[in-house]
Amino acid sequence: MREHDFAAGGGAGREPGAVPRTGLVDRFGRAVTYLRVSVTDRCDFRCVYCMAEAMTFLPRKDLLTLEELDRLASAFIARGVTRVRLTGGEPLVRRDILQLVRALSRHLASGALAELTLTTNGSQLARHADELAAHGVRRINVSLDTRDPEMFRRITRTGDLAPVLDGIRAARRAGIAVKINTVALRDLNEAELPELIRWAHGEGHDITLIETMPLGEIEADRTDQYLPLSAIRARLAARWTLTDLPDRTGGPARYVRVAETGGRLGFITPLTHNFCESCNRVRVTCTGTLYMCLGQGDAADLRAPLRASEADDLLHAAIDEAMTRKPRGHDFVIERRGAAPALARHMSVTGG
Ligand code: SAM
Ligand code: SF4
Repeated sequence: MREHDFAAGGGAGREPGAVPRTGLVDRFGRAVTYLRVSVTDRCDFRCVYCMAEAMTFLPRKDLLTLEELDRLASAFIARGVTRVRLTGGEPLVRRDILQLVRALSRHLASGALAELTLTTNGSQLARHADELAAHGVRRINVSLDTRDPEMFRRITRTGDLAPVLDGIRAARRAGIAVKINTVALRDLNEAELPELIRWAHGEGHDITLIETMPLGEIEADRTDQYLPLSAIRARLAARWTLTDLPDRTGGPARYVRVAETGGRLGFITPLTHNFCESCNRVRVTCTGTLYMCLGQGDAADLRAPLRASEADDLLHAAIDEAMTRKPRGHDFVIERRGAAPALARHMSVTGG
């Protein structure tokens, strides 16, 4: 591994003496303070709802380097982004990704960044947990749809459950809080959900259930996988006492406390529109494409302005222009059987 500190000398992307730039506010008055960075489109799993079995990945030459990803994220931090989440694809399969985490951790030290976190499938977590903690990562999201090894293989196609459970334990030992993300899948993990929630809460993890979203071509018909969380919630409410919590993240999750387990349970229902008015986030892909909304195709290329100049002026101008295009809300629908996905790009491109 090449040992270098590509962040050396870099502040939050601001040149000495440059005019301070304003924060990022869109035309609906929403301040953008949360950036998700997809650091790779590659993954060691092929989850049935996320990818096709034979995925074509981007040529490596199209990817931003770790240095460029650092510059890009730092430009957003200079504009008031206070939370950064690394995702993918699987972020921990990108070579030397811990160098990016280490570089970005300087913004934690300076106080510009309140949180640096990641979403991972957990397969490589055991060997990285201590270093992530050392670089200031305090919580992570681990995706886990089942604790049954055979079901795990069926859903992920290529994944093994044991290393993921090891990874979760290693994270906790390192002092990192873990939130479990579980996609609710009709006929697959549907029956196991109450037991999965009980397990997560017993281990001290929050858990959030997610509805499948129509992103990218997969082999299965999404209407077969789609399981409305309203139905799940009604079933859970018949068994447990669920109390709504006021907690909001600016994202689509809504939380309840489960009296019987004492734990916090989230529901992400992306197919409803009721969270868009408080949306505080944008997403950038590993090729430097900025998506202003997970559920819309409109995008801005940040790679060209990033590479056109060593200063960040062109980059900031492109970000400002993109902000004027952040849409009011998304357009997801899963209604017609066999219909094409609402968006052609896979979740592994934008990272969810
Ligand atoms: N590989 C990492 C992981 O699985 O956590 C990070 C990237 S993954 C795309 C981020 C999250 O998106 C995961 O929790 C995954 O379950 C979820 N996801 C992927 N495709 C989805 C889809 N079509 N609908 C809903 N959630 C999806
Ligand atoms: Fe990989 Fe995450 Fe997509 Fe599963 S959900 S295939 S782990 S990127």
